[in-house]
Amino acid sequence: MKSVYIHIPFCDNICSYCDFNKFYYNQNLVDEYLNSLKNEIKTFYTGELINTIYIGGGTPSSLTIKQLEKLFNIINIFNKSDDFEFTIECNPENMNVEKINLLKENNVNRVSIGVQSFNKNILKLLNRKHSKNQVIELINNLNDIGINNINIDMMFGINIENIKTLDEDLDIISKLNIKHISYYSLILEENTMLYINKYIEQDEDTNFKHYEYICNKLKELGYNHYEISNFSKKGYKSKHNLTYWNNNEYYGFGCGAHGFINNIRYENTRSLTKYINKEYKLNSEEMTKKINMENEIMLGLRKLSGINKNDFYKKYNIDIYEIFSIKKYINNKTMIDDGNNVYINPKYIYVSNEILVGLLESSE
Ligand code: SF4
Repeated sequence: MKSVYIHIPFCDNICSYCDFNKFYYNQNLVDEYLNSLKNEIKTFYTGELINTIYIGGGTPSSLTIKQLEKLFNIINIFNKSDDFEFTIECNPENMNVEKINLLKENNVNRVSIGVQSFNKNILKLLNRKHSKNQVIELINNLNDIGINNINIDMMFGINIENIKTLDEDLDIISKLNIKHISYYSLILEENTMLYINKYIEQDEDTNFKHYEYICNKLKELGYNHYEISNFSKKGYKSKHNLTYWNNNEYYGFGCGAHGFINNIRYENTRSLTKYINKEYKLNSEEMTKKINMENEIMLGLRKLSGINKNDFYKKYNIDIYEIFSIKKYINNKTMIDDGNNVYINPKYIYVSNEILVGLLESSE
């Protein structure tokens, strides 16, 4: 079974930190885009059973009801498994009950909401256009209509946050029925409004302190920390994202989307004009066994449970210890081997990049 990612690169508003592939919403462009998307899917999808679909962006919820209907019609092309997970990303300010009903009618069973913060000043700094009350109303409406597998994307590492603002956010979270939370650290990227406005980043020590604080609080609230930035209630891990972290194959459709199919990783054009003209692929590369094993390490060790040694052996026909200098990291206690899995010691998960770089260098 495979997964599908569909990129909808349109937004009503541009957030100050964002360097994703996105364009201002324009009705005609979206219509043309959907036509090209349909063609791309019909051309490249070869009919396998699909077990997760993720519509991300951009802001998929910026589309009108009619455009969303057209998108769901396109998605009918896929042959879906019985227990498939179907996620769509939404922004609170462009959702309403009519759209939620449409999602429900089209079997969307998971919604991921871009929240980032409930704090007015932080939302202003990030140039987000929703209010705390809009988020709460959306979550309540989703639950009422029967979509209760809800993720919220949150952000930390913002230079005007402190333990009090984090606590206020976590207190609101504790009162809502949210099954999954992603807490990402703000990364200052060039070509963003924050960068142009000379935003000063919060120092790393404070970032780390805040990350630990969030992890502990979410644990107290009953969330399982299962990936560096992801937390879920029991039974609500993101199946779609696990496809990536387990280094499994998935289709990527849409302008700027990435995919991994038949052992080929590819990237689509980031140019909207080219995409609409049906010139889809920017580049593609066949994966060697070595690259696949390196990706397995880089992605798999993002999970707190790490990599199952038997699964690795079955997939690559070689012992994981033979390829990577894991022993060194077990000896200095930055990694753990529990007999079945090898994983990064949770105490060091925040600095896992350094460990990953070391492991990859050891395989050269
Ligand atoms: S963060 Fe999301 S909503 Fe904001 S501009 Fe980027 S893609 Fe659009």
